[in-house]
Amino acid sequence: MSHFSSKLLTWYDESKRDLPWRHTKDPYKIWVSEIMLQQTQAVTVMPYYERFINTLSDIRALAEADEALLLKLWEGLGYYSRVRNMQATARVIMEKYDGIMPNTKASLMKLKGIGPYTAGAIASIAFDQKASAIDGNVSRVLARYALIEDSIDSNEVKKKLEEINLPLIDDDRPADYTQAMIELGATVCRKSQPLCDICPINQDCKAYKAQKQSMIPVKDKKNAKKNFQYITFVLEDEDGNLILLKQENRLLNGLFLLPQIEAESIHYAITSLEEYGYVVNNYEPLGHYRHVFTHMIWEMDVYYVKVIKPSGILSFKDYKEVAIATAHKQVLDKINRSRK
Ligand code: SF4
Repeated sequence: MSHFSSKLLTWYDESKRDLPWRHTKDPYKIWVSEIMLQQTQAVTVMPYYERFINTLSDIRALAEADEALLLKLWEGLGYYSRVRNMQATARVIMEKYDGIMPNTKASLMKLKGIGPYTAGAIASIAFDQKASAIDGNVSRVLARYALIEDSIDSNEVKKKLEEINLPLIDDDRPADYTQAMIELGATVCRKSQPLCDICPINQDCKAYKAQKQSMIPVKDKKNAKKNFQYITFVLEDEDGNLILLKQENRLLNGLFLLPQIEAESIHYAITSLEEYGYVVNNYEPLGHYRHVFTHMIWEMDVYYVKVIKPSGILSFKDYKEVAIATAHKQVLDKINRSRK
């Protein structure tokens, strides 16, 4: 065992968080957890994971689930294409692999929605293979450990990180090595203010030695998040029904959104609403909201608008029964609380 792995695994044994997906070797459950953990912190994922696994306990159940149930189980996690891809893949596993998950990184990567990181995580954690699983957290640890000062978004650096990682994987405990690296990135080698003083690998870390840990990893500027400014409307008709728009696009397909217009001025947005055929009775501001996606930010000035027509699709009090995009569910939740 290398000095690096020995220090890392000793630390992991003593300090790891007790997370539900760490009590299983079931590849299905590990797959579900890994997909949920993309873009979302472990503490947030935990109740979603428990609910999902309790409702859809195996690949067959996922393959056969109704879309509305899937979206409801995923509501709040965002990026709904992830759960749709999971279902498509579950169906392929049922049809082509007799319901048994493939067990190598290469074969897992052939499945829809399973990229190199997720394939490596399943192969190592569920099947104890020496497979590299490098997500954002692990990239950061490796880039700092090896003092990589080029952009981690470049393909050359991604390849280099793989080359650095592979020989570090412990022969006897590849599953724990993968989890330990993810854990280290999430809890110690954090994006800002890494806890280098208590880091188990600080003696081997080149960035720490050079005191450059806050400058690494370097990222491409083009990957900076894009900002969108919206005027967002809570439109209610005279019978107390909400107007929601079902989305048919890659990002939010199948989810409901409040109507919104990319604009900074309420007057322009109201005029646009009227051009779309809405008859506006009155409106009032409800405040500013913000929702951060991985690649963009929505800045939303929200207005409550009473319309005479057209009619809404469901009573305001029933809005929780449909899958509403998180960016807008936070708005309705706040209004709902104030109405109680
Ligand atoms: S010493 Fe600091 S920068 Fe290096 S891996 Fe540990 S936490 Fe990260």
